[in-house]
Amino acid sequence: MIKGIVFRIESKDYYVLPTDGDQIIRCSLRGKFKNEFKLKKDKLFHTDIAVIGDSIEYDMNADGTGVIHKIDKRKNYLSRKAPKIRGAGFRGERLEQIIAANIDNLLIFSSILEPVFNNKVLDRLIIMGETAHIPLSIIINKADLDENEAVKEWKELYDSIGYKVFITSTFSNQGLDDLRKSLQGKKNLFFGHSGVGKSSLLNKLFPELELKVGKISSFTEKGTHTTVTSIMIQVDADTFVIDTPGIREIEPFGIRKEDLGHYFIEFSDFINECKFNTCIHYHEPGCAVIDAVEKGAISLQRYESYLRILETIEEDINF
Ligand code: GDP
Ligand code: ZN
Repeated sequence: MIKGIVFRIESKDYYVLPTDGDQIIRCSLRGKFKNEFKLKKDKLFHTDIAVIGDSIEYDMNADGTGVIHKIDKRKNYLSRKAPKIRGAGFRGERLEQIIAANIDNLLIFSSILEPVFNNKVLDRLIIMGETAHIPLSIIINKADLDENEAVKEWKELYDSIGYKVFITSTFSNQGLDDLRKSLQGKKNLFFGHSGVGKSSLLNKLFPELELKVGKISSFTEKGTHTTVTSIMIQVDADTFVIDTPGIREIEPFGIRKEDLGHYFIEFSDFINECKFNTCIHYHEPGCAVIDAVEKGAISLQRYESYLRILETIEEDINF
């Protein structure tokens, strides 16, 4: 029985890095997992048995491959709503798709231009990190394209809420040393829409790795043609980065309307003061959150983000 981490997944092969080794072992899943998974199929809530970042135990076969027989309980995991899959789930419910597990540090990516900074998109990603209880920081990349100092204003907002914000550029190298330091000794997840510069930044941060981006891992969203890739890279003995290139659709999974306010962390100072304990801070009388927005104690931009997400939360999510 050997301990390891799931490093990459290619169809039915799970590539595992042993905890005490540096040779990646190709493993399969023991049959019992697949059977359990099949049994649950008509009540399937998520799409994956083992995921990138899972801590597992395996046994070696004579031919040098391994068999995973235990998946440890996840410390945490980041998930999204799986894109609609025909025939899966029931009553049209959406499944949960796990992006990666056991993350120490979530880096939420945005860019100042190309694509243009969109605080509502950023807030949606932040909410996903908050619901997963993963420590997170924000990256605003492509600072070299910032002509009217727009980035400064956004940094101030997120700083004031309590988030660490890294302003970076892979062209001018701005912010790279600070960012590299914050990744040391952790399992880091680079998360954000495609095009903001995640892979470029990874290459710039760790040029010695000569990343073969795209080659490493993919998992297919069953029943669709969309392929999402996650790539786990070992930077040194205890530093890892998981990159998530190619993600286009990012929707939080399983948030209830009545809980959403708690994931806007600066609302927490006010939520208990609302007149009704069922308050969703929409238009209820005596809402302390709305009051705080009017007094400028909560930023209007964040509150508008909140309303936007509130509108899009579906009623039929399963738990
Ligand atoms: P990913 O999809 O998030 O991994 O993004 P990529 O790393 O593939 O980058 C998308 C595009 O943005 C590429 O054309 C990069 O050259 C460009 N890019 C990345 N970082 C920067 C930056 O700091 N400044 C500018 N101006 N462009 C960048
Ligand atoms: Zn309220």
